[in-house]
Amino acid sequence: MQGNLNVQTENIFPVIKKFLYSDHEIFLRELISNAIDATQKLKALSSRGEIKGDLGDLTVEVRIDKKKLIISDHGIGMTMDEIDKYINQIAFSGANDFLDKYKDVQENLIGHFGLGFYSAFMVADKVEIETKSYQDSPAVHWSCDGSPEFEMNEGKRKERGTDIILHIADDCKEFLEEHRILELLKKYCRFMPVAIRFGEESQWEDSTTEFNEVDDGNGGKKKQPKRVEKKVPRIINDTDPAWKKKPADLSDEDYKKFYHELYPMNFEDPLFQIHLNVDYPFNLTGILYFPKVRKTIDPNRNKIQLYCNQVFVTDSVEGVVPEYLMLLHGVLDSPDIPLNVSRSYLQSDSNVKKIAQHISKKVADKLDEMSKNPVEKEKSEDDKTDSKPSVFNSQLEEKWDDIKIFVEYGMLTEEKFCERALKFALLKNTEGLYFKLDDYRDKIKALQTDKDKNVIYLYATDVDEQHAYIAKAKEKGYDVLLMDSVLNSHYINLLEQKIENTRFVRVDADTVEKLIAHDDNIPEKLSQDEKDKLKPIIENEVDKARFTVLLESMESDDQPMVITQNEFMRRYKEMSQTSGGGMGFYGEMPDSYNLVVNINHPLISQLLNETDVEKQRQLVHQLTDLALLSNGLLKGEALTNFIKRSVDIIK
Ligand code: ADP
Repeated sequence: MQGNLNVQTENIFPVIKKFLYSDHEIFLRELISNAIDATQKLKALSSRGEIKGDLGDLTVEVRIDKKKLIISDHGIGMTMDEIDKYINQIAFSGANDFLDKYKDVQENLIGHFGLGFYSAFMVADKVEIETKSYQDSPAVHWSCDGSPEFEMNEGKRKERGTDIILHIADDCKEFLEEHRILELLKKYCRFMPVAIRFGEESQWEDSTTEFNEVDDGNGGKKKQPKRVEKKVPRIINDTDPAWKKKPADLSDEDYKKFYHELYPMNFEDPLFQIHLNVDYPFNLTGILYFPKVRKTIDPNRNKIQLYCNQVFVTDSVEGVVPEYLMLLHGVLDSPDIPLNVSRSYLQSDSNVKKIAQHISKKVADKLDEMSKNPVEKEKSEDDKTDSKPSVFNSQLEEKWDDIKIFVEYGMLTEEKFCERALKFALLKNTEGLYFKLDDYRDKIKALQTDKDKNVIYLYATDVDEQHAYIAKAKEKGYDVLLMDSVLNSHYINLLEQKIENTRFVRVDADTVEKLIAHDDNIPEKLSQDEKDKLKPIIENEVDKARFTVLLESMESDDQPMVITQNEFMRRYKEMSQTSGGGMGFYGEMPDSYNLVVNINHPLISQLLNETDVEKQRQLVHQLTDLALLSNGLLKGEALTNFIKRSVDIIK
């Protein structure tokens, strides 16, 4: 029999080729998916008792035979009528529809084109089908050379099932190479639910017939079986991946094992995982892993993979996964994500939105639970005899440093997540202790409330650089947080908005007396006249564009001069640097500092009373340099000069 495919244009195949040029490779996924579907349907019929007897080996096989690539299954097969109906008639309703549907194919489609069987023509100039239905009907042979005409005759196939035979086109020879096909099978078919065989692989085992003579350790000899190479069928997929199992049936080790199966090139264990399993109102399974975030994050490695019924679709999951979770690893599997649509449509799809919200909620629930669960510690002998209650360490505390970036980013970008996270988010102080937000406020309230009833959260961004300031604050009995994440300035702003009457101030933002303004003032040792005289002496010696000289009344045993940097100026500058645009003005401003002079310090009185101008200048330089040094700001030539001057003074 001969006929015309129901395609309304002569040249649909060149169109397929042209439009899907960059994604030629998906033909293999499409054809293997069909083979798997046919096998699953067979199993379903059998389990309903509609097919009697043993189904035999159901492995799907992929073979390269000279210029042909063959995909064989032992599924339900097709009758002639079925080929007519499924392949000849409804392949395409028309080329125009096709063009409409796939207009923006190159940029917009995320993978599954639903092209199905006809994607074979992207790589083959002739396609044959050899099939025999499970029903009692003759085998069928169908062939088509890419023109809209096909041939269909009675076939020779004896067993139930289907062979799809692709005569690979000259410009697609790569698909006749074993390593290329293996690569594609690993990419798209790694977790498909029916075993897929491609060629053979070596397995080494003990021979039962060949032996080596080896020393037995007692001066004699003994026989040891030789290791022999055995060729076994190479099965490329894991048909029962962890995400399809029940969480209760999996141990922590199983999750880790699956992680390494998923990312064989990543040798580090994940921190923990979340197993997703929803039926209603959408179907979603999957496992999301929290990785250890390195200082340098490569968002292109170990991306989350999206599957549709165990068929790999894509690793671009924008829209499906909330943005702040894009750096997680793992798999998602859902038949409810529309796959043959453009990205912008995807993001407005209500199922996809619900899925993203669900994922976000699950992540928040998991973190909340971790904040309530203590770390499981193996008790040492000491602990057992110790009657003191041990300090409660939550699982979240243990992982916090590694995951805070996700939480902070999530709180900044998602209102709902933020509301949930305010209950479990942690603050860490410079002593390495962790506190929930409410608990921390209770801890510092008494000493760190200023005269305007604001609770002042002091923080450092670098324990070494800001050491002198931290020490001063601690002397006063204040607690100092360590806030060293890349999102800091944004995150601090957010907390100030979310927690009433709260201000965050970095320890070097002001002198310790002024960090938290109380009503008590320290009496001044200099008169107004003396102050007016002192200021220009110092101003003349410093770079006025960078430093503003401020005279302040501090304890006489505090430092004579201190460098501070206004909290808000600094924070806005940092924010504009990390958010790119918007606040450009602040970003471009040079760093500016206050040079705070302690007018109560004896050296400052000495400076004021010095009659030798040269000596006076030298003293100003020495004191400012010391202040800069304690702030890590004295560098390069200025540092060299300082050292020389210091040596001269000691001499
Ligand atoms: P889709 O798979 O999206 O329905 P296809 O064009 O890939 O579209 O396939 C059309 C139909 O042809 C399938 O629905 C199925 O009924 C039939 N078919 C394709 N391949 C096979 C196969 N290997 N075994 C049995 N039936 C098949």
